Amino acid sequence: MKDIIQNGLQTWLASRGTALGDRSETIGASEIGHCGRMVIERKKIAQTFDNPITLVRGYVAEEIVEDFLKQAGFKPQCQMEIEIPPFKIHPDLVFEGANEIAVCEIKSPGRLPSEPHRYWRDQVTLQMGAIWMQKQKPVKGGVICLSFIDGPEFWPLTFDEQRYSRLLDKGLYLHQCIKQKETPKAEPGESCWFCPVEIKKNCFFANEDTTRELPLLDKLAELRGQIKPLKAKEEELANQLKEFLKDIPGNAVKTANHTACLETRVTTRVDSKTLKHDLPDVFSKYAKVSKSEMLRID
Ligand code: SF4
Repeated sequence: MKDIIQNGLQTWLASRGTALGDRSETIGASEIGHCGRMVIERKKIAQTFDNPITLVRGYVAEEIVEDFLKQAGFKPQCQMEIEIPPFKIHPDLVFEGANEIAVCEIKSPGRLPSEPHRYWRDQVTLQMGAIWMQKQKPVKGGVICLSFIDGPEFWPLTFDEQRYSRLLDKGLYLHQCIKQKETPKAEPGESCWFCPVEIKKNCFFANEDTTRELPLLDKLAELRGQIKPLKAKEEELANQLKEFLKDIPGNAVKTANHTACLETRVTTRVDSKTLKHDLPDVFSKYAKVSKSEMLRID
């Protein structure tokens, strides 16, 4: 009996895989946020499902959530395909209004994380960007999480254009690696938790991220963790002070220690998105490629 069920699960999952097409030569939105080396190397391994229940759980969660939303009166478009060559992107749910559009990804982890994983946010960012490019409407996003142990959760996400642009670049890099049969650089981090053993055993970084100590990195990560809430607090106080100054004659105030004034500055900038869309030739003639270094710490 157990074998019948196991075989049935494998066949059912294989048929779902076929429905999504051959992904050995393409890169999906759910893959771009992961370690590039793992993503490409995993495509070379024969497709077997070590833990089919986890995958089945994902499909079941999608069907349950879609059903509940429809019963609640929403009319989401499910599994829409958006093409941003060379990528095809499939958000689980798309809600289209007259003036704005929203995408949602459904996840079903064993336990609820305290916040959405970075690679979930990357996936939704790619979906938001793709739909924003296609529909030319303001876009919002979110992750619906259905943990069969901890229950449901919803995290709204705002669109970050720079993050989208970085992810697109990474996707293009991985696409190029597939075409030119190159091995992408390894990106040790969260992906190492579920990197297949066959890939991990050949990876120099496989055991590094958990065993090695680097106080400088720990200190910097701690400092960044402290700066984030301080930045939010700073913004909140600045907004309060701006509101206060709006009602003061001259929009300025002087105290024993400081002065503050509210000034209006007008700047003119080229709307590069619209220019790229309306006059692509002009855009590419004047576009300048610049490189900068970014230190990402997860
Ligand atoms: S072990 Fe980590 S760094 Fe190495 S390929 Fe796997 S995910 Fe990437």
